[in-house]
Amino acid sequence: MVPQTQLLQSLKAVFGYDVFRPLQSEIIESSLDGQDVLAILPTGGGKSLCYQLPALQREGLTLVVSPLIALMKDQVDQLQASGVAATFLNSSVRAGEARARLEGLERGEYKLLYLAPERLFLPDFMEKVKRWKVAALAIDEAHCISEWGHDFRPEYRQLATIREHLPEIPVIALTATATDRVQKDIMEQLHLKEPARYVASFNRPNLTYRVLPKQRPRRQVLDYVSRNRNVSGIVYCQSRKAVEDYAAALQEAGHKALPYHAGLSQADRAYNQEAFIRDDVQVICATIAFGMGINKPNVRYVLHADLPKNIESYYQETGRAGRDGLPSECLLLFSAGDIVKYQHFIDQMEDEQAARIARQQLRQMADFAEFANCRRSALLRYFGERSAEANCGSCDNCLDDSEEADVTIECQKLLSCIFRINKAGYPMGLNHAVDVLRGSENAKVLDKGHDKLTTHGIGMEHPADYWRVLGKQLIQAGYLSLSDDGYQTVELTTQALKALKERTAIRMKRIETAAVASPAARSRSKATGIECDEGLFEVLRGMRKELADGRGVPPYVIFGDVALRQMARRYPRTDSEFLAIPGVGQQKLRQFGGQFIQVIEEWLAENDPRDFEPSGFLDPAPVRKRA
Ligand code: ADP
Ligand code: ZN
Repeated sequence: MVPQTQLLQSLKAVFGYDVFRPLQSEIIESSLDGQDVLAILPTGGGKSLCYQLPALQREGLTLVVSPLIALMKDQVDQLQASGVAATFLNSSVRAGEARARLEGLERGEYKLLYLAPERLFLPDFMEKVKRWKVAALAIDEAHCISEWGHDFRPEYRQLATIREHLPEIPVIALTATATDRVQKDIMEQLHLKEPARYVASFNRPNLTYRVLPKQRPRRQVLDYVSRNRNVSGIVYCQSRKAVEDYAAALQEAGHKALPYHAGLSQADRAYNQEAFIRDDVQVICATIAFGMGINKPNVRYVLHADLPKNIESYYQETGRAGRDGLPSECLLLFSAGDIVKYQHFIDQMEDEQAARIARQQLRQMADFAEFANCRRSALLRYFGERSAEANCGSCDNCLDDSEEADVTIECQKLLSCIFRINKAGYPMGLNHAVDVLRGSENAKVLDKGHDKLTTHGIGMEHPADYWRVLGKQLIQAGYLSLSDDGYQTVELTTQALKALKERTAIRMKRIETAAVASPAARSRSKATGIECDEGLFEVLRGMRKELADGRGVPPYVIFGDVALRQMARRYPRTDSEFLAIPGVGQQKLRQFGGQFIQVIEEWLAENDPRDFEPSGFLDPAPVRKRA
């Protein structure tokens, strides 16, 4: 048996993490003990690590079967960036390159090999595999073997025969599909031998669930995306036409957005998906054709502009938000009209049985949308899980929207903007200050030269309405005074000057303009967020993007957002401080440590480091114990 300390050492040295996510260590230990394992973890639960880490402990090669060609490259990029000898073989690899990789396999140069299932059944391939000292077999997306799963792939059925060729090696099957039926199918079809079965909770504590009445969807989507300008998000729509319309509207409003649906050419789809994954565009408007095979950990919101067909789809689609464990939001725009539309569609189905099921699923979905109690417990109940708390604190029904929020940063922005305007000699009304904050270049702003102020454009994350409401709150609270000369110019009171100087925390009633708060704003008040020096974070993000583009990989292959935020919080300046950042292992320290530390030092030469309250950031997902 491999001692736990050795596993933890390897977890840190290679992957950069200090603690296992729920059930990871149990799964890894069982597998290393030589047992067959069935692991059911939700999206973002950290399934990959469950076979990657054991692969490093074993002599020989671990075969990983995966149906998703695009993901293989992604996983292998990530492993290589962490210094792990991994490779893949699939139809996208050119003959010459494939030959080189096969030679490497003969020489025993790799610890992990990713394969599409059909590859195993090419003539002679099994003979080769037998020469490669295979130590373990991992079957990713194992539900593909079951006709009861949502993604049945006949080629998966043949995987059982590998067992006959390699009878001794342990198998680990992984999926995020929870139903008993599928689990049983996987165990039977793969001939798992007395498998250890682990089922994690399907709760995603870092996701906030909200439903809003769909009133002016285009306006609502535009507002929402504007408010989340700097972060990645997915807007799901029902039809291709809606996808195109939203994407065009967003582009017109100046957002970097692209469409994705099955009507686009293969090349366009690949291009748009890649642009999203590489953070070249922030928003992807998509039908349900988008998502499988997306590994992007920092999707901060999933907005459903139309009602999903059933709760399973809703759970899966929203599940693509927040894989990295940082606070993320799921927003559903709901109208009774959507139900009517689907019902009409279902009424035309020929298959009576299928229609009945579809109707029932739609009913459940609509019930969920109209539900007045905790949405998280409703979801979990659907998957047969009982949630521990009556109030989850992070769905719209549990969140008391009349609660106060920490608006210190917003207040600092608005107050210092007014301060600068007044210092420049021309006191103005609140609306003008809001224009400056929002980066307007209207005649009045340009005329006064207020586009040159350092506060010009620093308030893009909120719409104008937000800032106006905040301004009024500040007047009421005595931070701002209005002149009574009929011009209504605003000025800072001594209370405001003091608050700015001392960086006093300010709390106000939460402002909900189009009735949606941004996940970014929420994250400041929620326990799971990582508060950090946002300015430095942006600088680090820029550097990460440059490094990633230079290497032709997505930014998250270099570092995840958790790592960057921790850097922008702890200001590491030595190798050992840098290594203490979650997500930094030995290889990443060697490759990137110097450059990141240098940028942090440059930042500190011009800016004072900030102090932060202890972070409440915990890794996601409490556990349901071993089944
Ligand atoms: P899944 O396949 O279950 O959806 P992944 O294997 O893609 O999940 O992991 C999701 C994210 O969590 C990845 O960014 C991964 O690096 C991260 N992760 C996995 N294990 C840990 C851990 N023990 N600590 C911190 N982050 C982890
Ligand atoms: Zn709730």
